[in-house]
Amino acid sequence: MTSEMNCNDCADWLHPYLDNELEMEMALRVSQHLVQCPACKSKLAELQTLRDGLRQNAPYYPASELLQRRIMPQAKQKTPSRWIAPAISAAALAASVMLYIATPSSQDMLTEEVVSSHVRSLMEQHLTDVASSDKHTVKPWFAGKIDFSPPVIDLSDKGYPLIGGRLDYIRHQNAAALAYHRNKHIINLFIIPDTAADSPIRTISRRGFNIVSWHKNNMAFEAVSDLNQQELEAFAQMVNQP
Ligand SMILES: [Zn+2]
Repeated sequence: MTSEMNCNDCADWLHPYLDNELEMEMALRVSQHLVQCPACKSKLAELQTLRDGLRQNAPYYPASELLQRRIMPQAKQKTPSRWIAPAISAAALAASVMLYIATPSSQDMLTEEVVSSHVRSLMEQHLTDVASSDKHTVKPWFAGKIDFSPPVIDLSDKGYPLIGGRLDYIRHQNAAALAYHRNKHIINLFIIPDTAADSPIRTISRRGFNIVSWHKNNMAFEAVSDLNQQELEAFAQMVNQP
């Protein structure tokens, strides 16, 4: 299995990727990264737009006689198929770029799922399967129900009391959901097995909720709440670095 590509590596490969100059394996690694990285995907889209713009706006001058004389002998030596091939691969690349732009990333889909689950848990008043502020009650409850060990941290003394835990189903697999509250606000912390490398917290807003995401120890963490961004990020930091 190939190693996970990071954003720095990906940035180095974007130009040759766009030019279709990469070996198959490297091209595959880049596209695998692009599928799950909105930042690099939009970088690629920018490059593509820039390039299209250059192409469309570049002034066209008929080649001078001198230039024609220099190019034509070489052109005649090449077989027609070698001239057609780049055109076809460029079209294929353009199609794949379109696909990347149109397809929501796996992170986008995960965000959608956890926000929906958060809303559902509040609407159905099914916040917890095990209601307890005691981590020594909540953590063992998960044992045997899921095949990974989510960290259960009590943050009562920090102003984020644990309400309890429940089983959830995210990204086609069992996930742990921990409920906390902060004043009148409920926080759902989703913990899902994930092979992505550890990553620092990042916050986005969807449908009126803040979502703070990070990866640690082969788990994806998603904290969802209508709590303000600052306090939700403070919560995430405490869970991430207890
Ligand atoms: Zn990236």
